[in-house]
Amino acid sequence: MNPRWNGQFSRFDLVSRSGAPHRSIVRVGEIEIGGDDFVVIAGPCAVESEDQLLRTAEAVAKAGACLLRGGAYKPRSSPYSFQGLGVDGLKILRKARQQTGLAIVTEVMSEEDVGVIAEYADIMQVGTRSMQNYALLGALGRCGRPVLLKRGMTATLEELLCSAQILATAGNRDIILCERGIRTFETATRNTLDIAAVPVLKTVSHLPVIVDPSHAAGVRSLVPVLARAAAVVGADGLLVEVHPNPDHALSDGEQSLTFREFGEMMDDLDPYLALRQEARRLRPRLVAVGGAD
Ligand code: PEP
Ligand code: MN
Repeated sequence: MNPRWNGQFSRFDLVSRSGAPHRSIVRVGEIEIGGDDFVVIAGPCAVESEDQLLRTAEAVAKAGACLLRGGAYKPRSSPYSFQGLGVDGLKILRKARQQTGLAIVTEVMSEEDVGVIAEYADIMQVGTRSMQNYALLGALGRCGRPVLLKRGMTATLEELLCSAQILATAGNRDIILCERGIRTFETATRNTLDIAAVPVLKTVSHLPVIVDPSHAAGVRSLVPVLARAAAVVGADGLLVEVHPNPDHALSDGEQSLTFREFGEMMDDLDPYLALRQEARRLRPRLVAVGGAD
């Protein structure tokens, strides 16, 4: 362990990894996030209609995703953009779960909505804009659902782990960290995927770490290659946007994969995941810490 990281992060005692090779696994039914499996969460940015979501749910399930994402409450930068269907969107998500068996991940933006969203969601997503909404984190402490905590777009890893510690202190230890790209001077991509965040977080924390290549890239052509990078650096899974007709999506169409592209991305990951399994078998110590110590 790099001594600097140890000093920087060990004060977050509920989420940091203090020497022992212990790892947390977040369980949702049969699904284990943070264990041996590479878990893919996929679906549209926003729930737009029953037809859109059910078709997407079936397509991503068939391609190997085991959780369905879709926002019913959307944090849009513009007041003129589609804001989400609210409770009607949650009902559509529930129907998709009934039809496909996929577990549901959806965003919560306000502490007032925690109760209702927890009735429908299997995992509560905290978006990049809310990572430091401490009232929300406090309310999620006792929501009874795991939390997918996205890194703030201008947050350091220390601040991300500080928010995780706040959640854990409030009573919720089922936390999944998500690297989704940060703001830098670079404009060729929507955000800069901080790929080193994965091995750093896996070294200093016992929590599962997933990568969102969609919001990092901002364009769909880069999503598969960033997904591959995530698999190779030891991420526990992905959060990927998929839409039946991205050109007509009500949000984040440019970065959403079509069904065919998502299927190809999943197939394309196979050899990398097989290699990872093999490396884990041959060099368990190195792979366990993402090769970072
Ligand atoms: C999303 O997942 O659609 C989303 C709004 O993500 P982020 O908070 O990372 O921008
Ligand atoms: Mn989105």
